Amino acid sequence: MTLVMRAVEIRDLHKSFGHLEVLKGIDLSVDSGQVVCIIGPSGSGKSTLLRCVNLLEQPTRGNVIVEGVHLTDEDADIDAVRRRIGMVFQQFNLFPHMTVLQNVMIAQQRVLKRGKAEAERIARENLDKVGVGAKADSYPIQLSGGQQQRVAIARALAMNPALMLFDEPTSALDPELVGDVLTVMRKLAEEGMTMLVVTHEMAFAREVADRVVFMDGGVVVEDGPAEQVIGDPQHERTRTFLRRVL
Ligand code: ADP
Ligand code: MG
Repeated sequence: MTLVMRAVEIRDLHKSFGHLEVLKGIDLSVDSGQVVCIIGPSGSGKSTLLRCVNLLEQPTRGNVIVEGVHLTDEDADIDAVRRRIGMVFQQFNLFPHMTVLQNVMIAQQRVLKRGKAEAERIARENLDKVGVGAKADSYPIQLSGGQQQRVAIARALAMNPALMLFDEPTSALDPELVGDVLTVMRKLAEEGMTMLVVTHEMAFAREVADRVVFMDGGVVVEDGPAEQVIGDPQHERTRTFLRRVL
């Protein structure tokens, strides 16, 4: 028997903002080492779902279990779980007054209590890995959007996450800069990183994802192998969505 480690398990997750129910009972699991892409129209609850996985939003009902820890348990060590999760947003959210190197060092020093020399070494390793090592002493504003997003990825990786969440990481980029970011993400996937990725990049999802999940109206409409969900969708809502984006 092989033991498959569940990185994330989401059970009957509901999330409301006031009277607006945004997530209406989501069940979704991601095994360790898997890449799962979430697709779906704007407003379907994709960002809210990701934000519930690291408790940037508090679920209204249901369970989110990360590496066996029930996040909604009162005695769950939420900060410890959050340290295991890296998140990359559409907007890169780099600190504008810090250099690229400082951006990748700060959380290592503040949160993980790494010393300066170690934090710098790990920062440089990860900046090299995403192809922006030469920009270590630049400020974010001096970088292209694609370079800034790769710095944001390096910053997350420097924390040694067990799970990476990406929320439309290429949506704010000029088209010619999208490829460099996707290349970094593809490399991460090949190295075995567990990834939950909200994206409109169907070619990327088809090629890299183990599974594709189509969400609409706060529910999972379809969840299956990328080839099936994108190549041969079973539901009319999925087909309609894909016709619009492909
Ligand atoms: P998606 O990422 O799929 O576009 P979101 O999760 O961002 O969808 O949003 C789903 C719905 O929830 C939208 O109608 C949005 O306006 C609403 N929503 C998201 N966050 C909040 C919030 N903090 N307060 C109120 N409504 C919100
Ligand atoms: Mg969103």
